[in-house]
Amino acid sequence: MSQSFRPPDTELFRTLWARQEGCCALCGLAMPESRFDLAHAALWKKQRPTFDHIRPRAAGGSDKPDNLQLAHAACNKRKGARVE
Ligand SMILES: [Zn+2]
Repeated sequence: MSQSFRPPDTELFRTLWARQEGCCALCGLAMPESRFDLAHAALWKKQRPTFDHIRPRAAGGSDKPDNLQLAHAACNKRKGARVE
């Protein structure tokens, strides 16, 4: 897997980013816009914005914008690991 230093520059990403004003949907803190906002690549790996399915795909959630939000990679991972 290639390591990206920037979030995906897609219309969907920009729409969600604007809607959330650059904040994580799970913890509410600001997300970095690029690797170069942070001192270390390791931080970027944890804090980079990622797409989160509000209703998990495993539970039948769609890939449509109304089922997606942006969250830190670490928050997304934490949520994904939660057993419900
Ligand atoms: Zn977060």
